[in-house]
Amino acid sequence: MKRKLITIGIVLLLMCAFAFSAYKLMNARNYQLFGNITSHVDTQEKVVALTFDDGPTDKTDAILALLEDYQVKATFFLIGQDIEKHPEEAKKIAVAGHQIGNHTYSHKRMVLKSPSFIKNEIEKTDALIASIGYQQTPFVRPPYGKKLIGFPHYLHKHQRETITWNLEPDTFFTKAEEKINYVKENIQPGSIILMHPMYDHTDNELQAIEGILQTLIDEGYTFVTIEELLQYQK
Ligand SMILES: [Zn+2]
Repeated sequence: MKRKLITIGIVLLLMCAFAFSAYKLMNARNYQLFGNITSHVDTQEKVVALTFDDGPTDKTDAILALLEDYQVKATFFLIGQDIEKHPEEAKKIAVAGHQIGNHTYSHKRMVLKSPSFIKNEIEKTDALIASIGYQQTPFVRPPYGKKLIGFPHYLHKHQRETITWNLEPDTFFTKAEEKINYVKENIQPGSIILMHPMYDHTDNELQAIEGILQTLIDEGYTFVTIEELLQYQK
């Protein structure tokens, strides 16, 4: 009886350890089981990539105008079903010369999903991105940064880059001022900043973006796309 209890205890402990490891793996920004994943680039050069997740939405014009004012090219990880809803906005992003990434079709967590589901999420969105006139093969960013086995395996098999981030002001702060200070304090050459302006109806996020652009330009940083940033990898 005692031995049986010990065995059950050990099994439970191992299950907990496994669940914890899987959780860490699912959320890791710079590690996955298969293929390349990039959360930042190791460089001494003061370069930084600004990335926007989700959309396009009716916020696109305001975001593009702000980037135009600062002469900055950014990277937009677009959702397939949002491209279907706002194809004109998606085209404007491509025409303005920004980089476009694939953020899946439905923006579901790409964890514990079948290979055919994952394939469809990526390929349907690839086709939508191609349909707006964007020529390159898009880099991919998993929704919520979550991935486990199937998602990275598909991307590795198809030689696609997974891009995450190392600075996420929206996760920790709500006020523009706080987001700007967080980026100012934590910025390092080669950083990838994640922002979410597409569903923000307060303009708070646009103010945060403008503040980040101004602050980092004042500090001598140059904003580049993800593709340009990867060229700086040592
Ligand atoms: Zn997202």
